[in-house]
Amino acid sequence: MNFDLPEETREMCDMVVRFASRDLQTSDTFDADDFRRRWQLAGKQGIVGASVPSAYGGSGLDAVATAAVMEALGYGCRDTGFAFSAAAHLFAAVMPIVEFGTEEQKHRLLPGLSSGEHIAAHCVTEPEAGSNALQLQTRATRSGEHYLLNGSKCFTTNAPVADVFVVQAATTPGGGFFGLTTFLVAAGTPGLTVGQRYDKLGLRGSPMADVYFDQCAVPVTDVLDGEGSGAGIFATSMRWERTCLFAAYLGAMKRVLDSTIDHVRQREQFGTPIGGFQSVSHRVVDMMARHESARLMLYKAAQGLADGRDDEIGPALAKIMVSEAAVQLGLDAVQLRGALGVLGGEAETLLRDAVPSRILSGTNEIQKNNAARALGLGSRAAARR
Ligand SMILES: Cc1cc2nc3c(=O)[nH]c(=O)nc-3n(C[C@H](O)[C@H](O)[C@H](O)COP(=O)(O)OP(=O)(O)OC[C@H]3O[C@@H](n4cnc5c(N)ncnc54)[C@H](O)[C@@H]3O)c2cc1C
Repeated sequence: MNFDLPEETREMCDMVVRFASRDLQTSDTFDADDFRRRWQLAGKQGIVGASVPSAYGGSGLDAVATAAVMEALGYGCRDTGFAFSAAAHLFAAVMPIVEFGTEEQKHRLLPGLSSGEHIAAHCVTEPEAGSNALQLQTRATRSGEHYLLNGSKCFTTNAPVADVFVVQAATTPGGGFFGLTTFLVAAGTPGLTVGQRYDKLGLRGSPMADVYFDQCAVPVTDVLDGEGSGAGIFATSMRWERTCLFAAYLGAMKRVLDSTIDHVRQREQFGTPIGGFQSVSHRVVDMMARHESARLMLYKAAQGLADGRDDEIGPALAKIMVSEAAVQLGLDAVQLRGALGVLGGEAETLLRDAVPSRILSGTNEIQKNNAARALGLGSRAAARR
C-alpha cells in the first residue's frame, strides 16, 4: 500500500493552499458580496467544480484527488464556513446532477456551477423531518407538464446566495424510499422564497436559511432521474459529502495542530517552553494521532468512492471519526493556549466550526444506525439518512 498522494495531486494541493491563504481570507462577519467574490475566485481555481467531469466545465478529479483539494482548501482558508459551503454545493447539489442528470440538464447547469458563476443549495431537511429524512412533508403534485411544490425546508446551506436549489419532495406521501423525487429549481422561480440568514455557533462564513415553496411550478424536465428516485440520489450524494466534505475539516485540523505545536514551543512558563511538560507534549501527540487516524479512514472511504464500491460503512465511519476528532482537537488546541484560546483565534474558531460537524450530513448517531444496519444489526425500521 502506498499512502502518499501522487506528485501531481500534491502539487495541485500546494497551489490550492497558496491560493486559499492569499485570496479567501475574510472577517468573521458574513458579507454576501464578498462571499460571491471569493466564490468566483475559487471557481477560477477549479475548486467548486473539482469532481465535475471536464466535459461539463469541471476539473474532472476522482474522489481521492477531490478529497485532497478539499483538505488543502480547509488548510489554506481560515474561513472553514466558506470551505464548507463550497463542499456542500459540490457534493450535495452538483454531484447529483453529474451522476443522475440528463445530458440536457448537465450541459445547461454544470458549466456555471463549476466555474464559480452559480451557487447551489440542497434542500432536504424540514422542521418535522431531520434525521428521519424519508418522512418529508413537502409535496410535489403533478399538474400537466409541471410539478407544484408546497412545503418548507430548513437549515439549507447556501440558501441566501443560491442560484439553483436541488430539492427533495414527496411525490408519493408515505411511499418510503420510493416516495421521494428530486427537483432542480432555479432561484427566482415564482413560489420559492428564502428566509432570513441564521446566525450560528460555528461555520459562520457559510450562509444558511429556510426555504419555502408555495405552489412553486417546476417543469417535468427539471426532475432529476425520474419520479421516485429521490432517496437513492440523496443516499449517493451523502456518500460524497460524508467523505470529501469532511476532508475540509482535516485541513482545518492540521492547520490548527501546526499552530498549536508552534505555540507550545514558544510559550514559556516556569522558565521553559510549555511543550517540555509531558502532559502538554502528550496532548499534542494525542491530537496528532486523532487527526492522522481520521485522515486514513477518510482517504480509505474516498478510494472506495473512486473505485465505485457500494459501501455505506466507510463514509459513515469517516464522517464520525473526522467530526469527533475535530471537536476534541479544537478543545485540546484551546486548552493548550490557556486564556488566549478562548479569546478568539483559530483554535476557538475550529472548536465552534467542529461542533456542527457532528450534526450535519446526518448526525453521528444516525451514522452509527446506518453502519449497524449495513452489518445486519438493529431494527429494520431504523431511520436512514
Ligand atoms: C451547519 C449545518 C448545515 C446544514 N446544511 C443542510 C443543508 O444544506 N441541507 C439540508 O437539507 N439540511 C442541512 N442541515 C440539516 C441537517 O442535515 C440536520 O440538522 C440533521 O440531519 C439532523 O436533523 P435535526 O437537526 O432535525 O435533528 P433531529 O433529527 O431532531 O435529532 C436530534 C437528536 O436526536 C438524535 N436522533 C434522532 N433520531 C435518532 C435515531 N433514530 N437514533 C438515534 N438518535 C437519533 C440525533 O442524533 C440528534 O442527536 C444542516 C445542519 C447543520 C448543523
